[in-house]
Amino acid sequence: MAAGTGTEPNLLIIYTGGTIGMVEDPATHALVPFDFEHLMENAPKIGRLGCQLDHMTFTPPIDSSNMDPAHWKRIAQIIAQGYDRYDGFVVLHGTDTMAYTASALSFMLPNLRKPVILTGSQLPIGEVREDGTQNLITALQMAAAKGADGEPQVQEVAISFGRFLLRGNRSTKASSTDFGAFRSFNFAPLAEMDLHFTFNEDKLLRAAVDAAFAPQYEMDSAVGVVFLYPGITEAVLHAQLSVPGMKGAVLRTFGAGNAPTEPWFLEALEDAAHAGKVLVNVTQCPAGGVEEKRYATGDALARAGVVSGYDMTCEAALTKMMHLFGRGHSAAEVAQGMQEPLAGEMTR
Ligand code: ASP
Repeated sequence: MAAGTGTEPNLLIIYTGGTIGMVEDPATHALVPFDFEHLMENAPKIGRLGCQLDHMTFTPPIDSSNMDPAHWKRIAQIIAQGYDRYDGFVVLHGTDTMAYTASALSFMLPNLRKPVILTGSQLPIGEVREDGTQNLITALQMAAAKGADGEPQVQEVAISFGRFLLRGNRSTKASSTDFGAFRSFNFAPLAEMDLHFTFNEDKLLRAAVDAAFAPQYEMDSAVGVVFLYPGITEAVLHAQLSVPGMKGAVLRTFGAGNAPTEPWFLEALEDAAHAGKVLVNVTQCPAGGVEEKRYATGDALARAGVVSGYDMTCEAALTKMMHLFGRGHSAAEVAQGMQEPLAGEMTR
């Protein structure tokens, strides 16, 4: 990487892949990731932005369905290595797992004071009609934006997509077709990007004055997600909770955090909790959160040893658990940590 020395904002683009840079495979007509040069050739307006741009690219670029914690670590390390040199970072990423990566990065890069903006698109930049060019330009502008105090306007991991800038660990991919693919159901947008950019100043995350930027790269994948549904059997639940080596799971519950109160069900959870597994209650509803005491069915979960995930997204809860175990915390510490906000991911 080499950074410019002028007064223009220095931004680093990290190209991981995704639809934004894809082309059609002539043999199969399926979209496949393509190189960064192709993407930039098809978006010449970016040269007029007045930014000094450098880039790093995944070789080969990947469809985000293939993203995993090793890739998150790579992105986090690239950002940490360039942290002093660049004013901001734009991560080009497939939409499918962008909310997981944004959530993971928010925990891996605590106390950020610079923007890390993820974006991608629903249609590739090389197509005649597409959303990639606007998304890329807007993401770069978000990464370059300064507040009245001259400091970066955005000092956190965010997703810039369509007309909204959303907190990364509050975001979910909500549509596979809409140009506004992402939603943040439980937290207001950080900015609205219409004719003008309007920042929601009181929603922007700021690290505590004395808190140092301290990247933490290790993620422990020995966790899972258990999705409840009417008719779930004892055998299915048991198989999911007794995966060898598993340290914890996000329980996707009904409504305000409710689940069956059948004795076999609660005993399975109690056994898992007694065996030292961390179980976190996160609702299946896209909006709202867990209120365990509201119904007897939710209260029973709490008594079985399941801790509340409040209004966290599943993406945030899962990656937060990977992060807390990755720090080497004990089950008790992880259970406690899951209930405390780390990077603006929950409302308490
Ligand atoms: N499958 C693509 C990906 O996530 C979809 C996209 O980018 O929109 O990489």
